[in-house]
Amino acid sequence: MPDARSIDSTVPPSGMGCVECLAADGWWFHLRRCAQCGHVGCCDSSPAQHASAHARSTGHPLVQSFEPGEDWYWDYEADQYYEGPPLAPPRHHPLDQAVPGPKGRVPGDWQQRLH
Ligand SMILES: [Zn+2]
Ligand SMILES: [Zn+2]
Repeated sequence: MPDARSIDSTVPPSGMGCVECLAADGWWFHLRRCAQCGHVGCCDSSPAQHASAHARSTGHPLVQSFEPGEDWYWDYEADQYYEGPPLAPPRHHPLDQAVPGPKGRVPGDWQQRLH
């Protein structure tokens, strides 16, 4: 279950893209931010699903959407939405950042590659 350690609202996001995708020339659909350590990973619709992999490997159960206009939390352990406080800014990737992203690395048939 999420507890007080599951959210650290003072930690900034790790960056503006999925940590593992950026390191491995991958691409993502939407981004999720770990509420505990700030790790930014790709969503479960993305090919590599790095946000949920991060939750499994670290035991950090909560993410908040890192998409503009979205402030919901997701609890990977309970598999349901969660009510949490605002996290340290920035709260979403830049408005002009490509979705899916990153720009130039998304294949033309990306819609067929989503989960
Ligand atoms: Zn990723
Ligand atoms: Zn984390």
